[in-house]
Amino acid sequence: MAIDYSGITYPIIDTHAHLFVDYDWAALDATAQCPALRQVWLLGLDCYKESTELAGNAPVLEVAKRYPGFFIPFGFIDFTRGPEQIDQMREQGFLGLKAIRPALAYDHEQYFPLYDRAQALGMPILFHVGVISNRTADSFALPKVGFGPTQMRPSMLDAIAAAFPKLKLIQGHMGVPWCNELFESLWYYPNIRCSVSGLVDYQWLQDHLGDVTAKKTPMSKKLMFSLDGAYGRRESLAQVLEAAEFFRMFFLNVGRTKSWHGAGNDFLYTNAAEFIDFKAML
Ligand SMILES: [Zn+2]
Repeated sequence: MAIDYSGITYPIIDTHAHLFVDYDWAALDATAQCPALRQVWLLGLDCYKESTELAGNAPVLEVAKRYPGFFIPFGFIDFTRGPEQIDQMREQGFLGLKAIRPALAYDHEQYFPLYDRAQALGMPILFHVGVISNRTADSFALPKVGFGPTQMRPSMLDAIAAAFPKLKLIQGHMGVPWCNELFESLWYYPNIRCSVSGLVDYQWLQDHLGDVTAKKTPMSKKLMFSLDGAYGRRESLAQVLEAAEFFRMFFLNVGRTKSWHGAGNDFLYTNAAEFIDFKAML
């Protein structure tokens, strides 16, 4: 029997989500009216063909405009194009950016003009890091995309964070199999956060949630909740609420004897709300 999570009211921000190409407005309305879910960061994926069912920038923006301040549009960066695309996306209404599948390493200096514009415009970038889905060449809509994860190592964000100290960078996922690089980046750079989803290393979380950064910020303040699910179908909301409830219980129960026992609300909501004030950008 399915468990009903619709009574959940504690605040949640989903910091990494997508949109189904065949999204249903009624399902999105119900999602926006959920008392618990305060904000959803919605990432465009223009690299994939429609057959993958995940929407690109145009539908993401259309949905975000109907729910301002709730669905936050992150525009897909085409790494084969120049920095003018960043300005164009900001003018269109995108508030953040999504980086995935570069042909070169994320920290290649050829890409720095893109990051320079993102910093100037105050647009955070969520970088997919680590292991990636095994989609084959026939599912890509763009030429010159990267295939495997080796151009998307977590430690590549260090160079970008150092070169652009006002740019907000988000590790999308836990960077498996380079999970330890997450820690180094989070420890050193105040402008890097982690959006925890995908292949989650729960042992890593238990080992590091009680750590502090170089500036003595608790590591539990640098991690944010997400599911990496897709919105727009009737079942989408229940899936994210179930994941949020799992993490609430993880903090309470697995963390019962740990210093981070009480950090569940930070993880589910406060860390993301404090890191970026998207409503101020509208
Ligand atoms: Zn994703």
